[in-house]
This record gives sequence, C-alpha cells and structure tokens, in this order.
Amino acid sequence: FVNRHRALHEIVARSVEQGDRTYLVTREETISFAEHARRVSSIAQALREDYGIEKGDRVAIASANNVGWIQAFWATVSIGAIAVGYNAWWSPREIEYGLEHATPKLVFADTKRLAQLAELDVDIPVLDVDADVKRLATAYPDAPLPSADVAEDDPAVILYTSGTSGRPKGAVHSQRNLASVAAFLGYTGALSAAFGDPVPPQDKVHLMAMPLFHIGSLHNIAVACLSIGSTVAIHLGAFEPGAVLKLVQDARVTNWGAVPTMANRLLNFEGINDYDTSSLAAFSLASAPSSPQFKQQLREKLPFASALVDSYGMTETCTAIAVATPMDLAESPGTLGRPNIGVEVEVRDATGAVLPVGEEGEIYTRSAYAMLGYWNNPEATAAAFTEDRWLRTGDLGSMDEQGRIRLSSRRSDLIIRGGENVYPAEVEAAISEHPDVAEVLVMGVAHSDLGQEVAAVVVGKPSANADRAVFEQELRGHTAERLAHYKVPSVWRIAEQPLPRNATGKVIRTAVSV
Ligand code: ATP
Ligand code: MG
Repeated sequence: FVNRHRALHEIVARSVEQGDRTYLVTREETISFAEHARRVSSIAQALREDYGIEKGDRVAIASANNVGWIQAFWATVSIGAIAVGYNAWWSPREIEYGLEHATPKLVFADTKRLAQLAELDVDIPVLDVDADVKRLATAYPDAPLPSADVAEDDPAVILYTSGTSGRPKGAVHSQRNLASVAAFLGYTGALSAAFGDPVPPQDKVHLMAMPLFHIGSLHNIAVACLSIGSTVAIHLGAFEPGAVLKLVQDARVTNWGAVPTMANRLLNFEGINDYDTSSLAAFSLASAPSSPQFKQQLREKLPFASALVDSYGMTETCTAIAVATPMDLAESPGTLGRPNIGVEVEVRDATGAVLPVGEEGEIYTRSAYAMLGYWNNPEATAAAFTEDRWLRTGDLGSMDEQGRIRLSSRRSDLIIRGGENVYPAEVEAAISEHPDVAEVLVMGVAHSDLGQEVAAVVVGKPSANADRAVFEQELRGHTAERLAHYKVPSVWRIAEQPLPRNATGKVIRTAVSV
C-alpha cells in the first residue's frame, strides 16, 4: 500500500472504495466507509452553503469523543477549512481563551460544552455535535464528494498542547502532515516487525479511548484508519475499564494505545480476566512517562500486554518521534527506542551544539511531519525551531550507543540545586521503588542559599504506614540508599488525594504544592 495523498479530501474520496466495510463502530452504531463519505459530503456542503465556511476559516470542535466529532472534522478539512480541537476538559475560561485565540466562525459542541458556551457571550453559530451533525449529514443527500483547492502546506488543523509546562499552545498541522500516513505506517511497521504481526490493515481494529483533541487519536487513529482502511472502535464516555474491555471484546479490537493512567486503572481492575481480549495483537503506551517497574507489572498482569510498546511523541511532531519495541525494552528498560522512519533526533547542549553519546541535553527533532508553527504565536514558533527547522522538544535526555533515546525530564522541570542538576524523573523512579508508594511527584522549591532544593509529594498505598512522620522517615532512608545526597528530597509531603492529571496522563504540576 502506497499512500500518495497530499490533501485530506482525497482520503475521503478514496475511502469510498472500502464500501460497506466498517470505518467507525461504537456501542451504539456502526458506520461504513461508504456511509461515512456520504455523510461527510453532505456536512461539507452544509458548512459551505448554510454557514458560509470557506477555505482557511476555523471551525472549532469542543466535545468528548463521538462519531459527530470525526464527521465534523472530515467535513471541515475536506473543504480546506481549519478544524480546531478544543480540549474537552477545559474550564469555561479556557474555552473562552480558545475562542479568542483561534477565532472560529462556527463551533460544534457536545451537551456539556453547549451548556458552558451558553454561559459565555458567543456571537458565532454553536451547533450540537450530535443532533446537528446528524441533521447536516442528511441535509444534502446528493452532495458530491467534497473537494477543495488546497496546497500541501495549507493549515488543516489546530490542536492544543497539553499545557503541562504553561498555557496550551495551538500547534498547526498542514494538509500534507495529516494526510501522509507514511510515518504512521512506519510506526505500525515497527510494531508488526516486533510482533511478527501478519494482520493486514484491513483487518485491524484500533481502539480509540484517548481524546480526539490530541494528535495521537486524531492522526494515528481517525485519519490513518480512513486512509488505510482500518476500523476505529470508539469508546464513548469516561474511561471505565469494564466498558472499554467490553468494547475490545465486542469489536474484536486488535490495536490499543493507552496513556499510563489508563493502564494503571486496568492494572487495578479486578475484572481484567473476565473479558475475551484474545483479538488484541498490540498494546502500547504513549504520552507520559512510565517506569520500568510499572511496565513490568503491566506485562505480568494484563493478559494482552506481554509485548508492551512505548511510544514518544508530541503535539508538535504530528506522529511519534520514537517507539520502544518489546526488544528495546528488554535490553534497556528505561528507553523510548530509536527514532521512527523519517525522523531525525539529536541531543544538544544549551548552546545548540550536538552532544556525544550518553550525555544529557535537550532533545531536538526534525521530520517532514513537524507542525507549521503555533497558531497566532510567532514568538513561541520562533523559539521552538532552529533556522534549519530542528524542533526543540523541551525534553531533556540522552541517546545510547544503539541510537536509543532516554528521557530524563522536561527542561522546565529541571531542578538546579546549588549548581547541580537534579532530574525529577530520576528521583521519582527511585522513590517509586518503595513498595508502599502509589504516586510521586518531585519538584524544585525556592531555597535562599541553594537557589532550589528538592521536594517530593508522595501518595501512599493503603499498605503504607499510617503515621506520616514514620512513613516519611522510611522514604528518606529508602531514597538515600539509592541516590547521591544532593538528589534526596529535603522537603516531603504525604498527600491524601491522587495527584491531579490531565488528559494525557501527566501530572498538572501547577496544581500541586508541597
Ligand atoms: P505543553 O507543551 O503545553 O507543556 P505537553 O508537552 O505535555 O504540554 P503534549 O504535546 O501532549 O503536550 O505532550 C508531549 C510531551 O509528552 C513530550 O514532550 C514528552 O515530554 C511527553 N511524552 C510523550 N510521550 C512520552 C512517553 N512515551 N514517555 C515519556 N514522556 C512522553
Ligand atoms: Mg510540549
């Protein structure tokens, strides 16, 4: 299969060849490739005729995952307009920011977001992503397949970063970025090779449990599956292990990518063996750090995770930068694997000079799939790229002799204690080895003499000593046995509540204090 698509409407047109085979399936409905193309054609016509949407106009989608999201998206990008995916976890204030930032001409929203938008003073049409999309899908039954006069580098989508290190930034991806699934095929190719996977794309069913407003779900699943003829099984509603496993069983899911928070929920789910998950050929992690110990637990306890994969990417790179195969993880448990096909990676120092193997620095990457830039933010765009289009990831790490990447922390989280660099991830990993630790976050706090000192917030397991002072003493001793003294936290807090996390499973650091 060779993908030559340069524009997204071509993917919709070509998908008609797949006929009655299933593109989208939920617990409520099944939609074939042909039916999907018919609906998208009608919605696209309605966007143009009824709402005056033209090439380059923004159409926002503020919704949890559902069929309407995907159809509104395809209709928008097929006419050369720009789909803007708002984070469905945003507060009304954040939605307001999103509206000001992307200035859409129209918004599709689900019930919850319709209520939030009603509170705001919105002067553009707001459509129901369910009822109105269904209505528009049949409004123009004779509409031709959508077409647009688009260039490869025309913007197609704005997706916001998770906002882990600051305000979410709107990464803009071009028509070509989204349309070219070559990198995705490299990704599944790596998986296939690792698994000796004989399943052709047409027989693959990808589970969509991560939000569509993140690139992993939108590009690697929704777009890629329409492009290569695979099925998408959409989990509706919040992540609930029993319901998701039932979908895996009923839809015969073959591929599942999860954030570590979801994997952890599965680990603690008692009914894990009550479902038929034998169809699952590939289970992978993505989006947020997970420790080697955690991965080992997943391999041992989840019936479908024996050949676990970890995949490293960011909103700005469209697709994964690197994938750690089961073999990589066996040889080097903390690795994120080698760069994907078509992706270059370098580790550089603060001056931008490339560092030798094994040395810690910032990870830079370059590929044909990198974003065009950040929407409406030339300063951030300029800061993100070098002159020759290398992207600064903001992640610190190193590369080994085999070219495998390892992350240590984010540039913004690095603690500098009296001139010594302390990587929170390293300290967190050491503390996590204690059997009574459920979650841990390490951060820097201001110190008059040292500049910063190391602090840890720990959530204990039920087995942890109920006397916090005793538990803290235990943790200090445990950490001091494993790390140099300057890395051992001097400030500790035993927290009662789980750490707050965003949709990609990362701890919202700004919401945690010691
Ligand atoms: P912001 O850029 O707004 O601070 P963010 O970087 O969390 O938010 P995303 O684009 O969703 O937004 O996430 C990309 C980041 O997630 C990467 O830069 C990296 O730090 C982290 N990441 C992604 N995949 C992995 C992984 N498999 N293991 C560890 N970290 C990962
Ligand atoms: Mg980022």
